[in-house]
Amino acid sequence: MSDGLTETETDEFRSKVRSFLSENASAELARTLDGQRSYMGELAAAGLAGMTISTEYGGAGLTRHHDALFREEVANFPFMSSDFVISHGMCQPMLNDFGSEDQKKKYLPDNIAGRTLWCQMFSEPGAGSDVASLQTKAERDGDEFILNGQKVWTTMAHVSEYGVLIARTDPEAVKHAGISMFILKMDSPGVEIRPIHQIDGGKHFNEVFFSDVRVPVDDLLGEVNNGWNQATAMLMYERVAIGTIGAGKINQTNYRMLRSIAKESGKLQDPLVRQDLMKIYSMETAKSLVAMRTRAEMKAGKTPGPGGSLGKLFGSVIQWRMREIMMNMAGPASQAWTVGDDAAADMQRATVGSFSSSIAGGTDEIQRNIIGDRVLGLPRDISVDRGIPFKDLKVGTQR
Ligand SMILES: Cc1cc2nc3c(=O)[nH]c(=O)nc-3n(C[C@H](O)[C@H](O)[C@H](O)COP(=O)(O)OP(=O)(O)OC[C@H]3O[C@@H](n4cnc5c(N)ncnc54)[C@H](O)[C@@H]3O)c2cc1C
Repeated sequence: MSDGLTETETDEFRSKVRSFLSENASAELARTLDGQRSYMGELAAAGLAGMTISTEYGGAGLTRHHDALFREEVANFPFMSSDFVISHGMCQPMLNDFGSEDQKKKYLPDNIAGRTLWCQMFSEPGAGSDVASLQTKAERDGDEFILNGQKVWTTMAHVSEYGVLIARTDPEAVKHAGISMFILKMDSPGVEIRPIHQIDGGKHFNEVFFSDVRVPVDDLLGEVNNGWNQATAMLMYERVAIGTIGAGKINQTNYRMLRSIAKESGKLQDPLVRQDLMKIYSMETAKSLVAMRTRAEMKAGKTPGPGGSLGKLFGSVIQWRMREIMMNMAGPASQAWTVGDDAAADMQRATVGSFSSSIAGGTDEIQRNIIGDRVLGLPRDISVDRGIPFKDLKVGTQR
């Protein structure tokens, strides 16, 4: 018996998950958003989606232990939810933690079953690492807020039905105090979404503009002017979601990809290449262990601490090393596009896409600041705006 589950119950649950995954998880479905949506629908119908969320809100109503068992099993199958990392890893827990009873009943079932996709609208042209400097404003007008401003780098906005957004509701307050969080319907009048074209050929993120967008007061998420505390919680979920992808077991996905490139290019016996391969192998092993510890802490009911930052930073350091190794082994082919060759395309996407892992979800420097401050106990970053009302700060376009 562990965590309230007998050995028989554990075995039965594992075999239910395994048989579901054998029938429904496939690399082909994983490749498209529609495929992932249909997988999510089946997962919800099987009572395996939104694992720890109450059945009243469309979840599975199971325990953290079930969730951990599911993660262990799912790590042996294709990753079926790459387009749902934000929707499920970040927006879903925010709705569950901060949503009103009505909001949970209205939004969670569709979110959990993948019938709706959600995005995160925090960053602005003048507010990234220092996101509390955001200038998008939401002004109260009767039963609505009127939204004006701009977000940027909004992953999946162009295919999302909803988003979680932060906006300034009190410019007289100091910058962290006058922010509120909202649920935004992405097809609301006045919302304009412009995709950003990426170097790897993709179009995953966007600029989003708001011109007099009317947001019902009912879609305020949490309390007015408490948005910064909630944003911090969401950023923590973000680091955990990014840093613990595939955290159900120890895995070395990148190592396997590099080893097959080394084999194909006849460099597997080269001692320097072998040394590089072992470095990636050990870094990935360590990253898996950090991610498993973070998940275990969550399973024990603890709020994930700086472990989220450690895992996230580890992931981006691995991407940087991978890029160097691929360029050493494959030369220009590691970046030049060969249409129709899937293996080459994977390698090239990993090379040119490696830069983004050091920025998305908070830059490496910011993760190091968090680790320095909260793990190592070093002095905090210097703050020059303490006690000053937001409207008097020289940030964004306020210059
Ligand atoms: C692939 C990708 C997907 C993204 N998806 C989303 C999304 O869905 N939603 C969303 O809201 N945002 C998203 N972002 C935006 C992302 O959160 C920001 O880009 C990130 O927080 C950095 O902000 P910035 O680009 O404004 O850089 P800046 O904050 O301007 O930073 C510029 C440089 O200064 C450094 N720096 C800044 N402050 C400090 C400091 N205090 N100490 C040391 N160094 C510092 C940074 O590390 C960086 O090197 C995404 C970004 C990427 C790359």
